[in-house]
Amino acid sequence: MTVKRLQNSPDTVPAYRDNLDQLRDALRRLDLLIQRRTVAFREAAPDPLRTDLTHVYISHEEVDHLLRSPGTVKVVHPEGRGIEKALESLGKEIHAKVTQSLRQGVFLALPQLAHIFSLSPFECDVLIICLAPELDRKYDKLYAYLQDDITRKKPSVDLALDLLCASETARWQGRNYFSSQAPLFRTGLLQFVEDMQSPSGSSDLSRFLKLDPRILSALLGSNHIDAALSDVSRLILPQPDPEPVFIDPAIHKNLLRFMQRHLSDQSKDRKKLAFHFHGPYGVGKKELAATLCGALNIPLLIIDTPLLLKDSRDIETPLRNAFREGLLQQAALFLEGIDIFNTDNTPRFFKTLHQAIAQYGWLCFLAGEAAWTQQPGLFQDMLFQSVHLPVPADPLQRAAWDYHLSALDAAKADHAKDWPAALAGQFRLSPGQMRDAVQSALARRALDGGESGITLGDLFSACREQSNQKLHEMARKINPRADWGDIILPESHIGQLKEICAQVKHRTRVFGDWGFDRKLSYGKGLSVLFSGPPGTGKTLAAEVIAHALGLDCYKIDLSGLVSKYIGETEKNLAKVFREAETSNAILFFDEADALFGKRTEVSDAHDRYANIETSYLLQKMEEYEGIVILATNLRDNMDEAFTRRIRFIVEFPFPDAAHRLAIWKRHFPKEAPVDEAMDYEWLSKKVQVAGGNIKNIVLNAAFLAAENGQVIGMDHLIQGTRREYEKIGKLWDDNRLDPAKEKAR
Ligand code: ATP
Repeated sequence: MTVKRLQNSPDTVPAYRDNLDQLRDALRRLDLLIQRRTVAFREAAPDPLRTDLTHVYISHEEVDHLLRSPGTVKVVHPEGRGIEKALESLGKEIHAKVTQSLRQGVFLALPQLAHIFSLSPFECDVLIICLAPELDRKYDKLYAYLQDDITRKKPSVDLALDLLCASETARWQGRNYFSSQAPLFRTGLLQFVEDMQSPSGSSDLSRFLKLDPRILSALLGSNHIDAALSDVSRLILPQPDPEPVFIDPAIHKNLLRFMQRHLSDQSKDRKKLAFHFHGPYGVGKKELAATLCGALNIPLLIIDTPLLLKDSRDIETPLRNAFREGLLQQAALFLEGIDIFNTDNTPRFFKTLHQAIAQYGWLCFLAGEAAWTQQPGLFQDMLFQSVHLPVPADPLQRAAWDYHLSALDAAKADHAKDWPAALAGQFRLSPGQMRDAVQSALARRALDGGESGITLGDLFSACREQSNQKLHEMARKINPRADWGDIILPESHIGQLKEICAQVKHRTRVFGDWGFDRKLSYGKGLSVLFSGPPGTGKTLAAEVIAHALGLDCYKIDLSGLVSKYIGETEKNLAKVFREAETSNAILFFDEADALFGKRTEVSDAHDRYANIETSYLLQKMEEYEGIVILATNLRDNMDEAFTRRIRFIVEFPFPDAAHRLAIWKRHFPKEAPVDEAMDYEWLSKKVQVAGGNIKNIVLNAAFLAAENGQVIGMDHLIQGTRREYEKIGKLWDDNRLDPAKEKAR
C-alpha cells in the first residue's frame, strides 16, 4: 500500500470510523518509524546478530517480512529514501483525520488521553510504542531485533529514543520525557521496569517501559473502572430522575449556583473546586453531591477512602489513581470517610490529597462526619468550601419518612397516614438512618415470621436501634419498662408528666405546621426540671415518659462530668450532647445541683467559671431538640435565672400515707408468694419512707422469705425495714415499728 496524497484539509478528509481505526493508523506510523530505524541500524551493524551462530537470531529477512505485513506502509527504497516523506505525509493525514473525527464527535482515546494529561505528540508516540506489542506480537521480534538482543522484547527508553529521534540532539532532548516527574510517569500512564539481565551499572536508558493496564484498556476504548479501584469505588452517572435529597433546599440551591458559575468559567487559570461536606451518617452527603453533579451532567466517582488506603504505606499512588480515574471518567470525585485521617499525626494524608487535587482534580467532594480541622491555609490555592449538613428538621423529616415508607404496603393503610408525623415528632434521624430503620423493621418482621405488615411499634424500635449508641460510654441506659400504672403521684403531677409527653408528640404540628419554630429565636428542645427528695420517683418518671414516647433514656451523673479543670466540664458536656444529637434519646442528668448550685455573686475565678459552665449547659439544652431532664434533690439551690429557662418544673412530693399504700402494693409482682395477712395499711402509716426505700424493703423481705422457704410476710418486711432504717440512719423504735409489739401494748 502506498501513501495516498491527500489534501490534508480537515474538511476534505474523512473522519475515523472509530477509535481502533485511528490506532491502526498510529501503528502504521510506528511501522514507518521502525523502518527508519532499521535502515540506520543496518548501516551501523550490517549483520548484527550473526556474529555468533550458536545464538538464536532474528534475520534481516524476517524483519523485512514482518514490515511487509498487510497494512504496513511500503517504503519505496531499501535504503530508506522516501521514509521521511512518507512519515510526514501520514502524520498530516492522521492529524487531519483526528481533527475531523473530533469535530464529528467520534471518540478517539489517544487524543483524549493527550488532552486530559497534557501530553505532547512525542509522549503520544511513546504510548503507541508501548501499546504495539500488546496488540501484535510481531513487535516483540522487531523490538528485540532493534535492541540487538533476542531477550529484549519490551520497548526500552533507549529504543523509544531511537525510534522517535532523528538526530543525536533530539535524543538528548527526548531524555526529559523519561524523568520520573515527566507527565507519562508522574501520572502513572507508564511505568519503568528494570532490566534484570542488564549488567549492573547500566544507565537508565536500558530500563523497559510498561503501559499501565488501565491506560492500555483506555487506549483500546474501554471505560471500565481501573481494576485496582473496582472494590473501593462506584460510578454514579447523571440520572434523569435522581433520588430525592432531603437537605435544606437553600443549601442545595446555593451550591448549585456556585458550581454552575464556577464551571462555566473556561479560563485556563480557573481554580480547582473542592468541597468538604460534613454531617452525621446518612444525612445525604453523597446524594447531594450526586444531585448537584447530575444537574450539571457530570458523573460522580465515589471512593471509599479508608478502604482505598487500607494497609497501604504509599498513599500517593492509590490517591493519584483515584483522581486519574476521575479524569478518565470525566467525573467529579467524592472521597468518603475522610474522618479517619483527621488525626494530628496524619497531616501527610491531607498534604498528599491536596497535591492530588492540585494535579488531577477539577471538582471534588471530601466527606466525613466531623467538621474541618485542618490548617485553614492548606487549600487556599483552590476554591474550598466546608459545608455542614445537619440532620434535616421538619418538614423535611416528614418528607423523608414519607419517601422511605412509601414502598411499604403496611404504610399505605389508612391508619398509617400519621406515621411520618409520629416518627418525625419523636426521632431525629438522618434519611439514611430512616432507610436503615425501615429495612431492619422489615427484616425483624420476616425473622419473627410475622404474617402481617410492620407496625408503628416495629418502626419505633427500629428507630431506637438506629439512634447513636455511643452514649453508652458516658451514660447509663435505662430500659424503659415502667408504665403510667407504675408511678404513684398526685393527679396534678401525673397531668404534668402527660403534658410533657404531649409536647413531644405534637412538636411537628406546633413547630412545623403551625410555624412556631419561626417565631422562636432559640431552642425547640424540651427542658424539664424534676426536683424532690431522694427516691420519690424522678428517675421512674423519666422512664415512664420514655416508655410512653417510645424513646431511649440515658441517665448521666452530672457530678461525674463536672471537672475542676477549666474548660473540661464544657468539653464533657459537648461530648454528651454531640453523641446525643443523633440518639434522639431523653437525657436525664442526675445530681444537677452539682453544676447549678446558686450562682451567687461572683467571688472568685472559680465561681465565674461555674457560671460559664452553667450557661454552656443551658445553651446546649436549648439547642438539643430532644428532652433534657435535670434532676435535683435541692431545688432551693437552683438559681432563679436558670429555672426561668426551664419549660417544665415538676416537684416530686414526699409520698403521703395514701400514696405510700399504693406504692407498697405496686411493688409486689403478681407471681410473688405474699402472705394474705399482709397489713399494707399499717405499713403505709407507720413506715414513713419514700418509694425508693419501699422498693428496697420489699426486695430485702423477698430474699429473707426465699432464704427461709416461706411466703413473704410481715416479719420479713419488718426485718427489711429495720435494715433500711439502719442504712439511711433513721431511728428505729422497736415498740412502734412492730405490729405484734404494738398490739401487745
Ligand atoms: P434519687 O433522687 O435518689 O435519684 P429518684 O427520685 O430518682 O431518686 P427513683 O430512682 O425514681 O427515685 O425511685 C427508685 C424506685 O422507688 C423506683 O424505681 C420505684 O420502684 C420506687 N418509687 C419511687 N417513687 C415512686 C413513685 N412515686 N411511685 C412508684 N414507685 C416509686
